[in-house]
Amino acid sequence: MTNESTTIPTLELNDGRTIPQLGFGVFKVDPAETERIVTDALEAGYRHIDTAAIYGNEEGVGRALAASGIARDELFVTTKLWNDRRGAADTRAALGESLEKLGLSHVDLYLIHWPTPQTVSPVETWETLATLRDEGLTTSIGVSNFDERYLPAILETGVIPAINQIELHPQFQQRAATALAAEHAIAIEAWGPLGQGKVDYAATVIGEIAERIGASWAQVTIAWHLASGRIVFPKSNRRERMDENLAAAGVQLSAADVAAIDALDQGAAGRVASDPAEVN
Ligand code: NDP
Repeated sequence: MTNESTTIPTLELNDGRTIPQLGFGVFKVDPAETERIVTDALEAGYRHIDTAAIYGNEEGVGRALAASGIARDELFVTTKLWNDRRGAADTRAALGESLEKLGLSHVDLYLIHWPTPQTVSPVETWETLATLRDEGLTTSIGVSNFDERYLPAILETGVIPAINQIELHPQFQQRAATALAAEHAIAIEAWGPLGQGKVDYAATVIGEIAERIGASWAQVTIAWHLASGRIVFPKSNRRERMDENLAAAGVQLSAADVAAIDALDQGAAGRVASDPAEVN
């Protein structure tokens, strides 16, 4: 059953396109279970799905999308170019493979997954994404994990990404990367928005706010992202958590509560996953 009661907010990107601000991510979703899990997410009401070639589950995502009967223009589908695919010909081939697995003629957003600073420069690959966008194979283009150290090389091409998808949650707020993105109206997608389940956010002020307003810690965390203008797609294998996370779109936080969560930032010490400098 589709949950019709939750209205998912949208954002306008710097290329004029619209994106649902709350979606569903499928990192570490078992390929054998992906079709069922994405079907559950679509039934819950999610319309924005974030996958990647490296997740190995694009086929399952594609099967769930096809079986859903949901009109293509109501869906927002993102996939990402893996690190071993670079340069014009290989990038084009990689997107073609992803589209075939997804069963789509275009994605809504295609991202370079990591900057891979110790291998080849991302410039030719980035310019290829712009060509693929102009050909209609992806509606929008962006980068992922291009923090303030790596985004400048992309900006120098003059092709401005619509999105930068980076690790971001209350104890790791990436202030330098988000400030640089804001200068260019690049929207931030926060991956690991719940800290990937590795941080006990219920034991922080988030738990206190949650108890006071009658929400869960995860809902408060998602509501904080949304109130801060970021795009999020928390992952869960469990239908009840899919519903819980989607309902966060209806959770309102006061400015004081947002500020209290802002104060949890620990800078670089708050990172829980890989540093882009080390992913090659
Ligand atoms: P999240 O921050 O979304 O956390 C997922 C974890 O939180 C899972 O263990 C899940 O467990 C648990 N969880 C989900 N909902 C709740 C809830 N309501 N209460 C308690 N626990 C909950 O981490 P992800 O790494 O999955 O990030 C989200 C998405 O971001 C990914 O799926 C992927 O699409 C993207 N991503 C992108 C990366 C990149 O390099 N560009 C890197 C990593 C992620 P369970 O499933 O058991 O419910």
